[in-house]
Amino acid sequence: MTAAAESTVTFDGRFARELSELAVPWQAEEAPSPELLVLNDRLARDLGLDPGYLRSPEGVRLLVGNHVPAGATPVAQAYAGHQFGGYSPLLGDGRALLLGEVTDKGGRLLDLHLKGSGRTPFARAGDGRAVVGPMLREYVVSEAMHALHIPTTRSLAVVATGRQVRRDGVLPGAVLARVAGSHLRVGSLQYARATENFELLKRLADFAIGRHYPHAAGAPNPYLELFASVVSAQADLVARWMLVGFVHGVMNTDNMTISGETIDYGPCAFMDAFNPAAVYSSIDVSGRYAYANQPVLAEWNLARLAEAMLPLIDGDQEKAVAPAVEVLGGFRGQYSQAWSGGMKAKLGLSGDADSDAASALVDGAIAILKDGPVDYTLFFRNLGKAARGDLRPVRGMVRDLAAFDAWAERWQALGPDAELMDSVNPAYVPRNHLVEEALSAATDGNLAPLQQLLEAVGSPFAERPGLERYAEGAPEDFGTYMTFCGT
Ligand code: AMP
Ligand code: MG
Repeated sequence: MTAAAESTVTFDGRFARELSELAVPWQAEEAPSPELLVLNDRLARDLGLDPGYLRSPEGVRLLVGNHVPAGATPVAQAYAGHQFGGYSPLLGDGRALLLGEVTDKGGRLLDLHLKGSGRTPFARAGDGRAVVGPMLREYVVSEAMHALHIPTTRSLAVVATGRQVRRDGVLPGAVLARVAGSHLRVGSLQYARATENFELLKRLADFAIGRHYPHAAGAPNPYLELFASVVSAQADLVARWMLVGFVHGVMNTDNMTISGETIDYGPCAFMDAFNPAAVYSSIDVSGRYAYANQPVLAEWNLARLAEAMLPLIDGDQEKAVAPAVEVLGGFRGQYSQAWSGGMKAKLGLSGDADSDAASALVDGAIAILKDGPVDYTLFFRNLGKAARGDLRPVRGMVRDLAAFDAWAERWQALGPDAELMDSVNPAYVPRNHLVEEALSAATDGNLAPLQQLLEAVGSPFAERPGLERYAEGAPEDFGTYMTFCGT
């Protein structure tokens, strides 16, 4: 029975085959007693994987890498990366494996990848493991991002390994099974560039074009077009993060994808009160990856990508610089356009709203938020209620009522569209206090709060009875929130 269920999916090993210089065939560490904590049934079905099979003993072993399905060649991927501005020539998957690629129901080729599956040759001093809390955090936040229509890696399952892992004390170990358009990163191209093997760099870029930007193959300069496509995808992605108040926390070049999907949910968070300087990572002492810095840091990372790609853009690297700089110069405009268009939608102002007046209203809304403290998510959701005529909830949040009322009068004169607002301003995001509550209960063996949180954030725009507390701001005693990198 299980064999039949599994055989509906054939794994491929394209990355392992076509980019073997960047792939170290490897095996997952044996999990002593794997126990499935959460499975994404819908995603499993989209991949053609039978959820019933994935719940079976063999299926659970597949999800921790201990049963290698037909066609799969598990590999650890090599990559380099700038971490907090400093270059590391060799990072790679220290605790993760690419199991292989599968084709989903829509015909899209996707990576199935395991995180926390044991030490690899790239592990350096690390133990190769991951623990239940942070893997469930990635599961919740990535699925919330997907439901918010933000490009992201997806989460298929979290399995507790049954092994105790040494962290700040001892914590239960876990493996996350995640799905992505690919795991190609800016750091992948940096690694290939540093090998001085031009043919490898070209093969990797061609692989990225084939996988993500096939139109680039027909461009006059396919590699410049590839670079331009990544610039556009990242400008759009980071604008979407900013619009929902998401702080990634560790935007190193090894954590920035070529596909434009959000990847590597470590010390990430949705901000509660609006704060441009919001940082949640305990190791980001300088605030490099603070909320308001994210667009600038994305641009900085893309400059590192350009450097890695120069020899592809022109055989004479001197001549490659000018076009690469020109393409990179487009980032700011694309970002601003995506952000301000998104902000206007958040205010219920459609494309044909008088654009100067709409821009002034966006500036005014930011000034109100800065005057704070105002819960970012709730402010916009309550503005939707104001657009329907009930100004009380949002007026109850702001400090300077006179300034708000003057702003609101100008705003209402433009006839904000409440339905548009409710379709872009989420009621439910994975708020820090709710995530902590769910993770600590799950670590103690109670999965009910996690399931309820997933239920709320899985459908973030439709307010539903019974989920009221998921739409509320953080309790006042919640305090300063910090997440940790030693995940
Ligand atoms: P991150 O900042 O979490 O994306 O990780 C940066 C690098 O550290 C990557 O090369 C990871 O594979 C590696 N790494 C993180 N945690 C561990 C661990 N516990 N064991 C081995 N490698 C790790
Ligand atoms: Mg990473």
